Amino acid sequence: MTNIKKKIDRLRQELLKYEHSYHILDQSIVSDAEYDYLLNQLYFLELKNKEFISSDSPTQKIGSNLTDKYQKIRHFFPMLSLENTFDYNGYLNFEKRVKKSFYKDEKLTFCCELKIDGIAISIIYEEGFLVRATTRGDGYIGENITSNVKMIKSIPMKLKGFNIPKRLEIRGEVFMLKSDFLKLNKKSKIDKTKIFSNPRNAAAGSLRHINANITAERKLMFSSYGCYFFEDFKEKEYISTHYERLMQCLKWGLPVNKEIIVCSRHIEVLNFYRKFENKRHSLDYDIDGIVIKVNSIDLQKKLGSNAKSPRWAIAFKFFSSERITKLYDVKFQVGRTGVITPVAYFQPVSISGVTIKKASLYNQNEIKKLNLYIGDFIVICRSGDVIPKILNVVKNIRCSNAKKVVYPSFCPVCNTKLLENKAEKIIRCHAGLICNSQKKRFLHHFFSKKSLNATGLGPKIIDELIDKKLVQNPIDFFYLKYFDLVNLNKIGPKKSMNIISSIHRCRKTSFRRFIYALGIPNVGEVFAEKIANYFMKLEKLINSNIVELNSIPGIGTIIANNIFNYFSTDSNYNMVCRLMKEIEIFWNYSGVCLKNSKKTYFFGKRVVLTGVFASFSSRKELKDFLINLGAKVLNNISKNTDILIYGKKFGSKFSQAKRLNIKIINEREFNGLIKD
Ligand code: NAD
Repeated sequence: MTNIKKKIDRLRQELLKYEHSYHILDQSIVSDAEYDYLLNQLYFLELKNKEFISSDSPTQKIGSNLTDKYQKIRHFFPMLSLENTFDYNGYLNFEKRVKKSFYKDEKLTFCCELKIDGIAISIIYEEGFLVRATTRGDGYIGENITSNVKMIKSIPMKLKGFNIPKRLEIRGEVFMLKSDFLKLNKKSKIDKTKIFSNPRNAAAGSLRHINANITAERKLMFSSYGCYFFEDFKEKEYISTHYERLMQCLKWGLPVNKEIIVCSRHIEVLNFYRKFENKRHSLDYDIDGIVIKVNSIDLQKKLGSNAKSPRWAIAFKFFSSERITKLYDVKFQVGRTGVITPVAYFQPVSISGVTIKKASLYNQNEIKKLNLYIGDFIVICRSGDVIPKILNVVKNIRCSNAKKVVYPSFCPVCNTKLLENKAEKIIRCHAGLICNSQKKRFLHHFFSKKSLNATGLGPKIIDELIDKKLVQNPIDFFYLKYFDLVNLNKIGPKKSMNIISSIHRCRKTSFRRFIYALGIPNVGEVFAEKIANYFMKLEKLINSNIVELNSIPGIGTIIANNIFNYFSTDSNYNMVCRLMKEIEIFWNYSGVCLKNSKKTYFFGKRVVLTGVFASFSSRKELKDFLINLGAKVLNNISKNTDILIYGKKFGSKFSQAKRLNIKIINEREFNGLIKD
């Protein structure tokens, strides 16, 4: 057997297994995106190697083989699948094909509907009474589910209105509302019965339940999307388009989704698609695309079908929030605190309009869980619709030369032996500032906006200064000269001057910012503020012990240990002392959070700020400070404002406040008030 044939057989076996589970057991072993990806792979392999095409291939047949659980019934008209496309060109190609069979003097229109993600059924009405209902099955033979379908409230047992044909076939989708699906799973958890992975599987499991009373309990919905007439019915006398057929269904009392439009131009189709691509998550039922159908019944008949789908319709599917791509590398990044983070690099894919080419793998457990090999096909999603995440590896199509991803034992940057912290589930390089990666990231952090805020001193400049060995630690930055900077890449004289002055300006900061800037593991902005408010003085913080640190509300053992270890390490302690004494880093206020702010002058006052304040490193800092004192800080002056505080270069708010007779104080007066 050739390698190609082996690959084709392996893909077929895999797909048949997924289909059986999906169509017969109502369970998805893999996501639809993964199934569609494998089917596509098989399709292209068969296209290139036509000698291997066979009628039992998943590319050639509809649904899955039937079980003996239900009586089998042959359909009057084949119940086919739909050709599908994921892009606009696919729809344009479909339109081009349709146009070939179409008389130019006619007006070509398309009926666009939502593609509800449920289960297709066929219902036969005789003399207006529901007599039979079947699943799609393999497209030619379906399963008799009449007693179950009779339990669905929205499906009429008897049609109403006029012109009811002797015999009529209705096609439509049975589905479950997302809200009902959640309720069902909640109940199933309590009752310890089957949990479904999505509303489609829940609807399928409920519809094909051997006990029709269960179908009745499960609140299934139905939407008709087509009908077929038999010879005795003179359709042409009443109906000439697909849209009119649907409107007729409505008149007979059958439910039809209200989101249907008839389009004659591409842009209308595209707008309908885009509208529902955006709106799909707010609907209470799952849709996986739109269906575009030739509206003229005559033209539909002329176009006919192939073995798998009608030539007059196409499903224009939405991209799933999952995509499949090839993993080509895993790099181990060394973070600011030495934590090693594996990052997966893959063939770029676009998800919800964003191109993604890498995703964090978090830690060694994640790699083990995924059983990851370089060269694997991986399923990517944007978790919470933002952060790229690898969900799993596409099974059974791993290449023979794929290479297992192994965690390094030594730091990829400085070659220091890595140590595992089992409690925190992390692997760390403990080389600190000796490790170039940690050094760079720490210095980016130290001068960043939320830390000391040295404007203009971005990561690229810092990296270049480190690479040229002009700086090794934060202190070195304060000794940089104009000529050190002006010789760097893309830095002119003006920028060099600005950076030098901005570095010196950031000597004045706040206690909270300084603690945050030190980059103590797990001490982010919030904890830095808590610590600053508690100790108020740096000496007190440096001399604190684990018990005291641990007693601060919200500070747990891990953070208390990290802070204690930080100041107990000589190199850190020396750096902090040099920053304070030699560089003269200072702050006016300790980031005080007055617990009893009711007593303050500013409590409950509506305060507006204008100008630049010399005692605060930013407007935000002053704003936070006032909020801590119990003030309400507003952006604009109004007659309700209590106080305007102004600094240098104040603006028009000053004259507005004067006009409204509002109390105005300058920065010096403000400083006096808060000292009191
Ligand atoms: P399909 O679901 O892509 O499209 C055909 C179906 O669309 C119809 O049978 C009908 O049920 C439905 N439909 C919804 N609204 C419609 C409308 N307005 N007009 C006409 N039809 C409408 O094709 P399929 O052959 O039914 O199923 C194949 C798909 O099922 C795959 O692409 C995959 O997404 C999914 N699948 C998943 C797995 C898995 O393991 N996850 C396995 C097998 C199949």
